[in-house]
Amino acid sequence: MKKLVTLFMIMALATLTAKAALAGDTLADAKKKGVLVVGCKDSLPPFGYIDEKTRQIVGYDIDFVKAIAKKMGVKLELKPVTSASRMPQLQEGHIDIIAATMTKNAERAKVIDFSHTYFFTGQKFITKTGSVKSLKDLEGKRIGTAKGSTSEQNVKNAIPTATVLSFDDYPQAFLALQQGKVAAVTTDEAILAGILAKTPKNLKGKFEIPNVQISDEPYGLGMRKDDTNLVNFVNKTILDMEKSGEAKKIFDKWFGPKSEAPLKRNFKITI
Ligand code: GLU
Repeated sequence: MKKLVTLFMIMALATLTAKAALAGDTLADAKKKGVLVVGCKDSLPPFGYIDEKTRQIVGYDIDFVKAIAKKMGVKLELKPVTSASRMPQLQEGHIDIIAATMTKNAERAKVIDFSHTYFFTGQKFITKTGSVKSLKDLEGKRIGTAKGSTSEQNVKNAIPTATVLSFDDYPQAFLALQQGKVAAVTTDEAILAGILAKTPKNLKGKFEIPNVQISDEPYGLGMRKDDTNLVNFVNKTILDMEKSGEAKKIFDKWFGPKSEAPLKRNFKITI
């Protein structure tokens, strides 16, 4: 009997250890390697895009992970991801953190862990100026968005009669709008504002973001499930950034009144 109990105890311990090994300790590994690998967007101003002058990826998402890597005392390596590829890239260990306009929701939280909310926006549409006043105007229309996004799911629920065309990312969807292949592009307002701000001069005034919102989208930094040390470290860092004013400074840099895509900061980073 005693032998059996000991055997069970050993088995339970082995299972626990295996689980811990699976979750890993990315914080310790990154410190050992001297580098934190982050999956980010590279064509979505002002979150993650290539600066024309420096050819470096810059943006709101990037400034947060820069601060996290600095606090860790490691180098930052950025790897471009799409909405559809970011979770598999994380789970397969190709990246350590997702910082890519990613909404926290219950479905995703079953698979990965999220930091506290570090940005807050809501889903809207970009359309030809004057063509859409309410959701009704989009019924039965073709609407572009990105594969693997909450935008894709939300619009299907909000306008079941619409035909949703899913592109790799939003710039391709916006191109389809310019070519008249879709009647609207839908995703988070902050992304749409960034797209609108970067439209070439000859297209200025032709497109707008009507005041039609279909969801709330709180953004979190994504990490592997049960990667507890990293999650705690990231949460502490961004809470400290809120306290010190650094988080607001980053917001103002990309969305403040003097920025290309001014927005109100209607959130604070809290527990
Ligand atoms: N925030 C939404 C999402 O996580 C839309 C933007 C994106 O595709 O990254 O799916």
